[in-house]
Amino acid sequence: MGLEVAGTARALGKAVQVLESAPRLLQRSVSPELAAHVLATHQAAGTQVTLGAQVGPATVVAGRVTALQVNGQAVPVDELVLGIGGTPDTALAQAAGLACQDGVLVDAQMRSSVPGILAIGDCARFAAQGCGWAPAGSATLRLESVQNANDQAKTAAATLLADADQPSAVPPYAALPWFWSEQGAMRLQMAGLMPVAAQPDGTLAPLSTRHRRPGANDQSFSVFHYLGDRLVCAESVNAPMDHMMAKKLLEAGKHPSPAQLTDPAVALKTLV
Ligand SMILES: Cc1cc2nc3c(=O)[nH]c(=O)nc-3n(C[C@H](O)[C@H](O)[C@H](O)COP(=O)(O)OP(=O)(O)OC[C@H]3O[C@@H](n4cnc5c(N)ncnc54)[C@H](O)[C@@H]3O)c2cc1C
Repeated sequence: MGLEVAGTARALGKAVQVLESAPRLLQRSVSPELAAHVLATHQAAGTQVTLGAQVGPATVVAGRVTALQVNGQAVPVDELVLGIGGTPDTALAQAAGLACQDGVLVDAQMRSSVPGILAIGDCARFAAQGCGWAPAGSATLRLESVQNANDQAKTAAATLLADADQPSAVPPYAALPWFWSEQGAMRLQMAGLMPVAAQPDGTLAPLSTRHRRPGANDQSFSVFHYLGDRLVCAESVNAPMDHMMAKKLLEAGKHPSPAQLTDPAVALKTLV
């Protein structure tokens, strides 16, 4: 979100500084390869990016932030945009008796622990039993995306319409997750979930091996993630057709070899 705002503000001619506390950009959601491209593109556009930033107190004068302590130095501020994510506030749901754990716990048909109450979207931590694409060990997941909210609405509607005696007739939620982000001239698209593991220093590192497919120009490429010989995730920059085809491959559970996927002479649609 912060990078989207930064890209737009920079395009409007503003002097922009991005402060990231992690050692790289977007470590929760994209590969180091994609993050490096995103960093280089923002820097080339003139945005100043500080990684590993330690942000201290703000100076507020007459109700306005005028400076921020960054790595012990006061940095002047005209406008401050906070893009630091959020955590679910489950107090209301818990007070209503719903089982919660970083969101409202629901089964694969979107049913909470209280009969008659369903939850979907950002607030729902759902059973991932039907999700062949889920990283190993993910019994439950909570995702924040428009696609997830829309697709879970369909499952919830099917549950509401199902015969009360036959709720298991509703197929478990299984829609492949996909995401996008537009940052300046970059259109990032991701299909599937990147498997990550926390490192001893607290950072996150992908568990996958990754293979790059060149795009039409040096601002366009895709990264395919494998666990063993299984394709688990794909990231694309300014390559919407690659994204679309990668999505189809993942949805169909197909696992072409890295050699096939990274060969620009191989049209991905021939592999679907
Ligand atoms: C700035 C921004 C940019 C984003 N960009 C993208 C993007 O590019 N792509 C993408 O996939 N996702 C994006 N997202 C995430 C996406 O918006 C959410 O994942 C999606 O909206 C989730 O849908 P939802 O229905 O679960 O929740 P919401 O869309 O948040 O809807 C929940 C609704 O419930 C209402 N509500 C909350 N509490 C109560 C209450 N107690 N009583 C009654 N009503 C209540 C809220 O006011 C809100 O209207 C973005 C989010 C933000 C904030």
